[in-house]
Amino acid sequence: MTSAPDGSATRDTGQIKAVCLDIDDTLLDSERASRCGLRALVGSDRAWPVWQRTTDQFYSRFSSAEIDFDVLCVERTQAFFAAFGERIDAVEAARRESHRMAAMQHAWRLFDDVVPCLAWLRAAGLPLAAITNAPGRYQRDKLASVGLADAFDIVVISEEVGHSKPDPHIFGIAAEQLGREPGELLHVGDRFEADALGAVRAGLRGVWLNRAGHAVPEPVRGGSGVREVAAIGDLHELVDLVVPAPVPHGAVGREPRDLAGAPA
Ligand SMILES: [Mg+2]
Repeated sequence: MTSAPDGSATRDTGQIKAVCLDIDDTLLDSERASRCGLRALVGSDRAWPVWQRTTDQFYSRFSSAEIDFDVLCVERTQAFFAAFGERIDAVEAARRESHRMAAMQHAWRLFDDVVPCLAWLRAAGLPLAAITNAPGRYQRDKLASVGLADAFDIVVISEEVGHSKPDPHIFGIAAEQLGREPGELLHVGDRFEADALGAVRAGLRGVWLNRAGHAVPEPVRGGSGVREVAAIGDLHELVDLVVPAPVPHGAVGREPRDLAGAPA
C-alpha cells in the first residue's frame, strides 16, 4: 500500500513510461557495507555517527566540485581520526582508507527486493535508469560488483554530468537520455529531499523509499512538493505505482507477493 509521507492517500499516478532508481541504500545496503568498512578501520562501528557526519561534510564538498574523490577519501579519513585527537599525514590516511575501502567493497550487497523488482519492471516493458550522486568510475564498479552492470538503459552519475540530486538538471538529463518527458518518469530513492522531493520539483513522480520507517524530515514537512511524494517501505511496493503500465502476456503478475517468482 502506498501513501503520501504524512499518511494521506496519494493522487492518481498516471502513465509511467520509465523508472529511475537511486543506487546507494536503495539498491545496495550501502550503510551496512560502510559500517563493515568502519569496523575494519577502527575495530567497531560505535563511531558511526562521527563517520557519517564527516562523510556528509566531505561529500557536500565533492558534490560542489570543490574536491575530487581521491582528496575526499584522504581528507575524510584525516578529519575522522582528528575528531578523536589523532593527527595522521596523507600517506597514512591513504593507507588506512585503502584498507577500509577493501572491506567495504567486499560487503557490497543488494537488498533482497532489488532483483525481483527490476525483473518485474523489465517484464512490464519499462526502460530503467540509475541516477546517483557519486564518482563515476567508483559507482560503475559498484554496479558491476553486484551484477547490475547491464541492468539499466542509462546510468546518470553526478560527477559525469556535473549536476547532483536534487538539482532538477540531473533528472532532466535522465529524461532526455531516455527520450521521455519528465512527467512520464518515476524516480525512487532513499533520500527524501534529494531523491523524492528533487524528482517532484523536476516534474517527475517522486517516490521516497523509506525502508526504516523514518518520520518525514521536519525541515521539509508541509513544504513545496511534499504532498506529491509517494512513500513506500520496500521495492515490492513500487509495483503499485506503475500499475497503469501494461504487463505483457506471460509476464509475472503485479501483486507484490508475485515478485518472489519473477525471473532474475
Ligand atoms: Mg541513496
